[in-house]
Amino acid sequence: MEKTLLLVGGGHAHVYLINKIIKEKQKFKTILVSSSQYQFYSGMASGYIENIYSDTDINFDLKRLCKLGEIEFFEEKVVKIDPKNKNVTLKSGEKIEFDIASFDTGSELKIDNKYLDKEKIIGIKPLTNLKKIKEKLRNLNFEKIKILVIGAGAAGIELSLALKELEKQLNKKIEINILDRGDTLLSTFPKKVQDIVKEKIYQSSIVLHLNEEVEEIKDKQLITKKGLILDYDLILWAGGPTSNQIYKNSGMSVDSKGYMIVNHFLQNVDFEYIFGAGDCISIQNYSHIKKVGVYAIKEAPYLWKNILNYFNAKSLEAYIPQNEFLLIISLGNKKGVLSYKDIVLNGSLVWKLKNYIDKGFMKKFNTEF
Ligand SMILES: Cc1cc2nc3c(=O)[nH]c(=O)nc-3n(C[C@H](O)[C@H](O)[C@H](O)COP(=O)(O)OP(=O)(O)OC[C@H]3O[C@@H](n4cnc5c(N)ncnc54)[C@H](O)[C@@H]3O)c2cc1C
Repeated sequence: MEKTLLLVGGGHAHVYLINKIIKEKQKFKTILVSSSQYQFYSGMASGYIENIYSDTDINFDLKRLCKLGEIEFFEEKVVKIDPKNKNVTLKSGEKIEFDIASFDTGSELKIDNKYLDKEKIIGIKPLTNLKKIKEKLRNLNFEKIKILVIGAGAAGIELSLALKELEKQLNKKIEINILDRGDTLLSTFPKKVQDIVKEKIYQSSIVLHLNEEVEEIKDKQLITKKGLILDYDLILWAGGPTSNQIYKNSGMSVDSKGYMIVNHFLQNVDFEYIFGAGDCISIQNYSHIKKVGVYAIKEAPYLWKNILNYFNAKSLEAYIPQNEFLLIISLGNKKGVLSYKDIVLNGSLVWKLKNYIDKGFMKKFNTEF
């Protein structure tokens, strides 16, 4: 009987797998379940906000790609995993059986549930919310829009600087305050990068409030634990990643933060027919690695090879995460700052390099067919 490979989540690693299946028909049946037909590519998120990239530039159309690869596609959310009985349950209640499953569902936004579904608070995840942010800004009929960005990590910073570029295109003033409970912006980046970005933030008239934590959010005001009161029209929540509860609830081993534990073969430590990649996994002995797309991309070839080898009862190949990788923060207006090992570079050429890498990725996995 034909075996079934179930892919859950259309993240970076699974986009690679879909590409492989399009190019080379497999003997097994493949099903993809992902919450949205469109998978936004986060590397181009800030460029999308400042209108450098269009919707089509930044989106993978998973339905279209699946059709090309004869993959059955469900625009649905997996709400339950039954690893022992090899099935998942969708939000609609439908069950899908599998022989091998692979999870690439990313991470969720760290946000208090009480702030979800509020009209004036938009989380930056799922990334499809970026579209909502742009629409909201277009539709707010104020001469000056007061935006509070929660979180001074890479996403919050890039987004804020991109919004200041968007301000030049809209006939409105955008005032931005960034709030972070930490004592520095970009806490996981080298000091040199922090200093360059701090200077850029200052030049852009963005106000950064460090060591400040949200206490209460009223209809038009945010109050911090130290009593700072900030007026707002819109809050953008960029509070960092957290895990999806489906893994913990399934009875599979998860790390202290709730991410699914896999071994060096990207294989679930309890169920050898379950694999995973990207933000949703925690690799044994490497649970500290950052939740960035780079890892999902680097893991993808190993994930694919190991799934094929598992199907064919061959030995699997170990993936060792790299410690150092190239990181580029977009500073807006086609400029960026790059850090790699001890090297820090800043300017237009850096952005050109980022644009080249990002466009190349989209071309290879989205548009070359
Ligand atoms: C604004 C922003 C900018 C960023 N910029 C960069 C950058 O420049 N470089 C970088 O390396 N990283 C960046 N990151 C981090 C990066 O986005 C993540 O690390 C990366 O997307 C993780 O990839 P992934 O493949 O694990 O999952 P994702 O890309 O998050 O994809 C997961 C997919 O699974 C789907 N899904 C989730 N749950 C379910 C479910 N239960 N059932 C079905 N489908 C589900 C989601 O809809 C989504 O399509 C950025 C993040 C943000 C928020």
